[in-house]
Amino acid sequence: MDKEIFDFFNTDLQFIHGVGPVLAAKFDDVLGGRRVLDFLLHIPSYVRPREILDSVTGAQNGDTVTLSLLVKSHKKGGVFHGHKRPTQIVCSDKFAAPVTLQFFNVKFLDYWMEKLPIGQWRIVSGKLDNSSRGAIINHPDFIELPENASKIPTHQAIYPSGEGLTQKTFANVRDQIFNILHERIANYKFTEHMLEFLDALEHAHYPENNETLAPNSTYISKLAYCELFAHQSAIAINRNNRKAQKNLRPVRAKKYNLIDKFYNILPFNLTNAQQRTIDEIFEDFNKPVPMMRLVQGDVGSGKTMVAMAAAVKMSESGAQTVLLAPTDTLAQQHFAKLKPMCDKLGLVCDVLTGRDKGVQRREKLISLKSGRTKIAIGTHALFSEDVEYKDLGLVIIDEQHRFGVQQRTAMRAKGNNPDMLALSATPIPRTLSMTIYGDMDVSVINEKPAGRIPIKTTKLPIERVNALIDRIDPQIKNGAKVFWVCPLVEESEISDMTAAEERFKELNKHFPGTGLCHGQMDKKERDKVMTEFADEKSNMRVLVSTTVIEVGIDVPSATIMVIENAERFGLAALHQLRGRVGRGNLQSYCILLYGNNVSPDGLKRLDVLCETEDGFVIAEQDLMMRGVGELLGTKQSGWIQYHFVNYREHRDLFKLAQMAAMNNNTEDEYWAEELRQIFDCSVVAGA
Ligand code: ADP
Ligand code: MG
Repeated sequence: MDKEIFDFFNTDLQFIHGVGPVLAAKFDDVLGGRRVLDFLLHIPSYVRPREILDSVTGAQNGDTVTLSLLVKSHKKGGVFHGHKRPTQIVCSDKFAAPVTLQFFNVKFLDYWMEKLPIGQWRIVSGKLDNSSRGAIINHPDFIELPENASKIPTHQAIYPSGEGLTQKTFANVRDQIFNILHERIANYKFTEHMLEFLDALEHAHYPENNETLAPNSTYISKLAYCELFAHQSAIAINRNNRKAQKNLRPVRAKKYNLIDKFYNILPFNLTNAQQRTIDEIFEDFNKPVPMMRLVQGDVGSGKTMVAMAAAVKMSESGAQTVLLAPTDTLAQQHFAKLKPMCDKLGLVCDVLTGRDKGVQRREKLISLKSGRTKIAIGTHALFSEDVEYKDLGLVIIDEQHRFGVQQRTAMRAKGNNPDMLALSATPIPRTLSMTIYGDMDVSVINEKPAGRIPIKTTKLPIERVNALIDRIDPQIKNGAKVFWVCPLVEESEISDMTAAEERFKELNKHFPGTGLCHGQMDKKERDKVMTEFADEKSNMRVLVSTTVIEVGIDVPSATIMVIENAERFGLAALHQLRGRVGRGNLQSYCILLYGNNVSPDGLKRLDVLCETEDGFVIAEQDLMMRGVGELLGTKQSGWIQYHFVNYREHRDLFKLAQMAAMNNNTEDEYWAEELRQIFDCSVVAGA
């Protein structure tokens, strides 16, 4: 092993100069981890040119411009008669064309005027806002003395960012990390494979232009291939291990007949797709090898009842089932829904989450250990070290992409070769699911329960927001609940939260009691707001949130979903968000608000959503239309979160990597193992 490099990969980001625990936590949110490696695997999505232009004349609204400007005059801002006015610094470029710099932050008025003294030249870089009042740059990204012009990167790599992290922070951390990497490379001997890999990474983090970051560039395809090979080799090993399995599922005698009773108490008829999936699961139960099945079904396709049927069947022998949900709120919801059914069937059902403490928790654990509790619903608390089961037969994982392989392995270890059933709301085009989920059997629920009223989806420019508020007002008075989603603002000097917070303030004026939910609140607070919103009786009618709102949450009275700057989201993410409404028997609406800078392609993507609700169609379109990863919500979309792989552009690499993984020789096995570590692809021993 290239040990020295892995030691560095695993270093916590807080030990990088200038980071510290607070920033490291923010990186954790954005990167999904806080190690140096997590940073390295998170590459810029595009390059923003910032070469110095001769003149502002000819630059387009929205362009990033870098200009030599002569400061002409100051207009101090402040609060006048209750109105905030920005500080304005009026300048002119080399050809005397006027450019105004604007600063809204009232606290630092003098700071900007001192930084930009009248009669002096400065190099200023920022986004151009061409309005009727002329050329304006609001809060420039860079202001430098002419002799320090080189401090402004001519080709700035832009990282996908999140709350509280600026591009300058990203650039600083990147520079530190690569300095240390160079030291290590000079002082230790690494394998040729590793050196090539690091070289490709370095090019990706210091792209010369957008070509470097294109999926088919030398470096990106190299990285993508490495990543695919890591995944495919893990899949191949898991598959072989499974085939060679000696520890079979324990034989369980059927003691009761519960499944017929279950069918009798169901309040509706199962769809054909639900029934087919249930049959496939029951067939797996008759095989000697434990089940490993993934159920893919669009939002609202009724996966929970399929899970319930599997749990009921499992309990016919007296064995136990756990149903793992990714959040407390979801676990409580499942419990509220399934407990009454369990009561009718005479099955003991319980819920266990991080909220359970003390005596209450101890009693629940005793009931699990004794085997009395047959169906346990909960979060990761279900596989805490001190939780024991008498005979855990089935592990069901809801919204499976939220759980890592390690957590799945931990859960499996609680039983004697339990069956595994994963539920996923992410439709994966069939063309890909075979290679992605090569070690699982897949059932597809491609049908929605009858009688669903299609969601009416429309797109609307942001200027019409007031008209929209007027339109939803009567609906709210009639009892409708509204999700209002605001995306994060990339690369903002001001706090990223402002968008959601400002919208919240605004809506709270119209609809008192509006809730707010964002990523800077801790999980407990977030849960509390969500629970209150979900409560039929609460008067929280509107919930403003960033994209943190839970996958899978069921608020049947929520019939309106508003998504701001919808053009910035991936299609799959939009589809997931929309799936939060239209769950009851009322007409639901989804309104996609788009910003001024929307591109024709962006509008076309929104049209796909207005036209169809079929998750598979949307997934195929997403695949075909997705850009270079600049869209929000790809994480929530539930596709395997590849760092470098582009589903559309790298289709050939999937096959190549799969073949290489199947014919792997021992020489490459060393590198394959390192790659599996880098990309966190666990091999499940003996499973
Ligand atoms: P998801 O697949 O998104 O997890 P759920 O299991 O939450 O969907 O089901 C969505 C809603 O549809 C629930 O309220 C559920 O009770 C209901 N439902 C499930 N199956 C059927 C069916 N066959 N007919 C009518 N309603 C159903
Ligand atoms: Mg669900």
